[in-house]
Amino acid sequence: MKIKRLGVMPSFCVLLAVFCLCGAYPCVAVPLSPDGEALIRWQAGATVTAEEVDAFGGLDACFASEPIPDVVWTRMQGKTYKDNPHIGRKDLRYIRALHWDYDGKTHLGEMVCNQQIAARLIYILRTLYEHRYPIQRMLLPDVYNADDETQMRANNSSCFCYRAVAGSAKLSKHARGLAVDINSLYNPYYKDRKDGTRYVQPSTGKPYCDRTKDFCYKITRNDLCVRLFIEQGFTWGGDWRTCKDYQHFEFKGL
Ligand SMILES: [Zn+2]
Repeated sequence: MKIKRLGVMPSFCVLLAVFCLCGAYPCVAVPLSPDGEALIRWQAGATVTAEEVDAFGGLDACFASEPIPDVVWTRMQGKTYKDNPHIGRKDLRYIRALHWDYDGKTHLGEMVCNQQIAARLIYILRTLYEHRYPIQRMLLPDVYNADDETQMRANNSSCFCYRAVAGSAKLSKHARGLAVDINSLYNPYYKDRKDGTRYVQPSTGKPYCDRTKDFCYKITRNDLCVRLFIEQGFTWGGDWRTCKDYQHFEFKGL
């Protein structure tokens, strides 16, 4: 997203600066503060206040999708994106979203997904935000060099990553931007092997395979997150029989 700044910025006081967001977003007045700057640059991970969100253009401006911006495309190269015959830049969208942490603060979030599910995903993330459903982190996996184990240990929530299903040559639904992982540390993947051992991903998520326990960021069968994804045409990995993937939602329609 290119930002054109109008005029000379006087100081960090009560003055408002007018910015014009090129493309789909209207001109808005934004408080000139460090956090306001984070919003304008959409510095994912930063926290913002309700007042700053309002000044930026409200929730409509904070839950939106756009073609992959140049700066994001550059970030993805050799990490979440690799040359391949299945999916290209035009098939993908960059999503901006807000999310609540357990600390009660609003964070800027980002995801890359298939353009065919962008509207559904924005609806889901916005509804979760409006109901204060806690999501700890929502950064592109590129921040973690697209290493799945590392981003899951960080409890990241994400969508697109061009990769195979762990332990197989089959392309993951994440490779087409059609699967979303939410709060991945506390909602791990596991499979019980024939020899009686259990494979868990991330490996630090072992304590959270026991779903009879209560803990933060736990996704449960009838919670808002599962209900919304199912309503929007996704299946939940928590319903799988031969293995469990509690963080995973994948779109059935494509
Ligand atoms: Zn997944």
